[in-house]
This record gives sequence, C-alpha cells and structure tokens, in this order.
Amino acid sequence: MTRSKLSLATLPTPLWRHERLDALAGTEVWVKRDDLTASGAAGNKIRKLEYLAAEALDQSASVLVTCGGQQSNHARATALVAAELGLKSVLLLRTPDPRAPPPAVGNLLLDYLAGAEVRFITPAQYRERDALMAEVARELRERGERPYVIPEGGSNGLGSLGYVDCMAEVRAQLDAGLGGGPRAFDAVVHACGSGGTAAGTALGARAHGIAAVTHAVAVCDDRAYFETVVARITAETVALAPNLDPSARPCIHDAWKGPAYGLPSDDQTAFIVEVARNTGLLVDPVYTGKALFGLTRLEPKPKRVLFLHTGGIPGLLAQAEAFAPYLRNR
Ligand SMILES: *Cc1c(COP(=O)(O)O)cnc(C)c1O
Repeated sequence: MTRSKLSLATLPTPLWRHERLDALAGTEVWVKRDDLTASGAAGNKIRKLEYLAAEALDQSASVLVTCGGQQSNHARATALVAAELGLKSVLLLRTPDPRAPPPAVGNLLLDYLAGAEVRFITPAQYRERDALMAEVARELRERGERPYVIPEGGSNGLGSLGYVDCMAEVRAQLDAGLGGGPRAFDAVVHACGSGGTAAGTALGARAHGIAAVTHAVAVCDDRAYFETVVARITAETVALAPNLDPSARPCIHDAWKGPAYGLPSDDQTAFIVEVARNTGLLVDPVYTGKALFGLTRLEPKPKRVLFLHTGGIPGLLAQAEAFAPYLRNR
C-alpha cells in the first residue's frame, strides 16, 4: 500500500557526536539531530506531519485543527506547516486560566506569527480534547471550512509512520559508514509526551535493526498510562504497515519526568546548562533535557546509544525563569 507523504523536513538529519557529551553521559552517545528537521517547524512533529498533512491535502482540507499545552511544539509545527501549505490552523491550547492568556513568547509567539487561530482552554477542557476538537470541526464545517483534525502530538498510527521512517533513515546512514558504521546501537533513548514517537521508533528500530531496545523517557503521566497509549498507537501503525512486528515496544521510564510537565528538577536544569556549556548542544527543559538526563541514569548503562534529539528549542526560550540562577556571567 502506498500512502501519501509530503516532503516537509530537511532530511536526513545529522548523526552528531561530541567527546564531552560522551563524558557527561558516561557512554558513547550519537545524537540524531531531529532538532534540525526545519527552521520554525523543527523537531519531531514535522516527521509525523509529513503523513498527516498529506492526508489533509488528499481530503482537500482547508484548515488543520489540533491541540496541546500553551507551549506546544506540536501545535507550533502544525501552524507553520499549515502556513507553508496555504491552509489555516486552529490550535486549542491548555492554560491554567484562559481569561489570563499567557505571554506570546517561545512557541506561542511562533503560533501567532504563523497566523494560527489560538483558542485557550482549561486543563479540565483539555481532558476532553478529542470531543472538543470534534466540536470545533463541526463549527468550522458550518462556516464552510474543511477541517482536518490532528490528535495531541500528532500521535496516531499515521503520524507514527514518520518515526518508522526515521529509523530507516538511520539505517541508511549507518550503512553509509556514519554513526560508527553498520552495527546496531545498544539502545535508542528519546523523550515521550504523547506516545507516537515511542511507538514508531520501537517499530522502526526493530524493522531496521537499529537497536534491540528503545527507551522512552516519559515527561508526564506514568508508565502504565503510556503502555496503554503506545499499545493503541502501535496497533494503528501496524494496521497501516502490516510488515512491521506488532510486538516491538519501547521500554517506558517514568522516573525522570521531574516535578511536573514542563518543569525540570534542579538537577535536570543544572544538567541542561552543563550540556550547553560543554558541548554547545541545546536541549530543552520540557522534553529532551529530561530524556538526556535519563540516559545518563540508565542502569545498566548501554555502551553505544542513539539519542533522538526531538527538538523543543522554542520552548526553552520561553523558560528563562527555570534558568534564573544561571542567567549571569560565570
Ligand atoms: C512532542 C515532543 C516529544 C514527544 O514526542 P511524542 O511523540 O509526543 O511522544 C519529544 N520532544 C519534543 C521536543 C517534543 O516536542
């Protein structure tokens, strides 16, 4: 079966290694630089959107509808992809109190620049996000629009194919002598927020011999939650690509999610600063900083690791307060 797929991301993304990152991690780390998949739409979501937006165009959609936190990387990537494709976008963004809208910084600034229609919703409304998006879609249809609804994080079977493809991309790089050559890694490590990257990466890593184990570091919820979510997405993905092995699953960790979603622990904040100052690599306090921190704490420690850098830099730029102790000359 051939599925539509757009070419939106700048691919392949580099495999990058730094001796001082190895030293900080205590192991050999190859970073798959999916923070470089694009300009504004950079990060992991664009790989999912290559499939999702293709389906939207196939259905002659006029507007993409999606949801996320107020600093959602996924919502921002969706808004910018919509702008690139000449579509509108409506974003339902969770914020503690919609009557006091958050400042237009980081991802939210980019949402507005992309011309998205931003609607703030409460955490309680967010829990009913799928019903709410269906309602918004009905309202848009009444106005003569053709909405295409994308679930949280772009995480469904179709979106996950983007990370199956990412693992095929890594296999081609290894076979070409990059990333230390053709042999598999001992593990893949990445952040997990809505489960699509975890499902696709585990399926793709199995299919393309990237590593026997993939570690998904949860940044919210817990392991039981993600096991359910990833099982559902895996089933959807395998239904679309029956050649994949449905038993391929990530190892989900919930020990490094920090005090709350979006909030790093003091150790994690210090680690993010350490990585930046020693290697020039930016990781973010919501996703990649927690995942890379988790990598350094894995027991037993894998000897050669592929770390998926899934992006998130606009969110970092909205978090000056988390880094307050470091915002001065050394
Ligand atoms: C969304 C996101 C993730 C998590 O990916 P999911 O597929 O939603 O689990 C990881 N890192 C960054 C920077 C993200 O924006």
